[in-house]
Amino acid sequence: MEGYRESRVMKEELSLEEIRLIKEASRRLGIFAFKITGGEPTLRDDLVDIVRILKEDNSYVSITTNASLIHNHLPGLVDAGINHVNVSLHALNEASFQRITGSKMLKRVLNNLRLLRDYNVPVKINFVILRGLNEKDIPKIIDLAAELGAMVQFIELHPVGKAVKTFREHYLPRWRVLELLEERIVSIDYRLGLHNRPIIVLDNGVKVELVGPVGNFLFCAGCTRIRVTYDFKLLPCLNWEGPPIEVRPRLSKTTSFDEKISVIIGAIKEANKLRRPFVMYPLGAKIPVPRGKWRTMRLGLPKSDGRLVYTGKDSERHLKLYLSEWGKYALF
Ligand code: SF4
Repeated sequence: MEGYRESRVMKEELSLEEIRLIKEASRRLGIFAFKITGGEPTLRDDLVDIVRILKEDNSYVSITTNASLIHNHLPGLVDAGINHVNVSLHALNEASFQRITGSKMLKRVLNNLRLLRDYNVPVKINFVILRGLNEKDIPKIIDLAAELGAMVQFIELHPVGKAVKTFREHYLPRWRVLELLEERIVSIDYRLGLHNRPIIVLDNGVKVELVGPVGNFLFCAGCTRIRVTYDFKLLPCLNWEGPPIEVRPRLSKTTSFDEKISVIIGAIKEANKLRRPFVMYPLGAKIPVPRGKWRTMRLGLPKSDGRLVYTGKDSERHLKLYLSEWGKYALF
């Protein structure tokens, strides 16, 4: 049901006061980037206020949303200074959209994407690639992104938690995207610090990022994220299986603002110590056999400027080199 969430969840959700405490603790730790995710953040009536608080120190603030309700928060989000919006859109035909999301709101999501464009909000489309469900929409989403002036993030399924079963049925390797877009690639670069992800520029100017953990041994190498749950617990990692760090019980013993901030700083540091780089397939493990002509390979360790040793200034020339001399390998 649209806009529905359990009242228990609503009661436990972070208050604006708690969000202000998190913002202040983060500032003191030098953290100036926040991503508001969910569940679905647009369910909160006070989303604009949350963004306003997080923006107080001129931090970078983004939202990840399914965009079905984002029209309720415009133009407030723009006035609050939102930096970009990630819109999850995994299919462009009604049937697949309904199968993947369980809703019939494709049309509304598309309208809202256009609304975001009209408000000049930078948009990244998150598209999880799923075998048998949305492969045919991969080229179409590129055309939509060109129309909207948006970026596209193609995301491989992560074989964690509840996604393990889906992974077995619908895992589609990221190099399939390269196969489908091969003729349109102008250049490839890398964002090593963020999931070791290739950034591809296509002939229509659309930028595409490939986010994939499978066989990507540097996936977690640059991760600096700490997750704060809706009920104020800290998780060191998406794959953290231990108990979360509960912050509220610790805060109940404090009185002053500064005491609360030091408790939260302590909890963040504790969570950070629990972080351990997580890769789905550690070195030496068997990785899935790539389909077709694309294969993953790694030619060297990163240089100090973050580039991989096989990348150069002229990425197009390098791409051609890969294509001709390395026999159509995709480098991740
Ligand atoms: S360390 Fe955890 S949260 Fe960070 S990139 Fe790896 S899996 Fe994701």
